[in-house]
Amino acid sequence: MSEKVESSGPLPAVPYIKLPEGADPYLEGQKCSSCGAVYLGQRMACGKCFSREKFEAVKLSDRGTLHVFSIVHRSFPGVEVPFVSAIVDLEGGGTVKGNLVGVEPEPGSVELGMPVDVFFDDAGRKDGDGNSYVSYFFRPAA
Ligand SMILES: [Zn+2]
Repeated sequence: MSEKVESSGPLPAVPYIKLPEGADPYLEGQKCSSCGAVYLGQRMACGKCFSREKFEAVKLSDRGTLHVFSIVHRSFPGVEVPFVSAIVDLEGGGTVKGNLVGVEPEPGSVELGMPVDVFFDDAGRKDGDGNSYVSYFFRPAA
């Protein structure tokens, strides 16, 4: 038997989104204690130095630069296209994939290396229990 958990608000769409009460949401990375490489999500070993030493949870920056992007014209039913799928290098470490919004989804409007901010918003979907989810997005830096 499962007990219904009372939720006080929206849930994180992925485990590495942290929603501290009374503070701004942030992305949490795992930092290799051997070489300092930063990853999202749990790791068994470091892909950079192959260490299996402990990883330390770190709060990631909400600023970064656009590493690479793709303008997506086909997706699942219900997903509005086109949109910009981006990979962003965060300041201080961590590379994150997400959607870049606030720009026209066309090649001339998006530039490699452009500074972007991370922000958090409703993911636009609810699950069967009516829970809403918070996801992260990128937008051109203010
Ligand atoms: Zn390492």
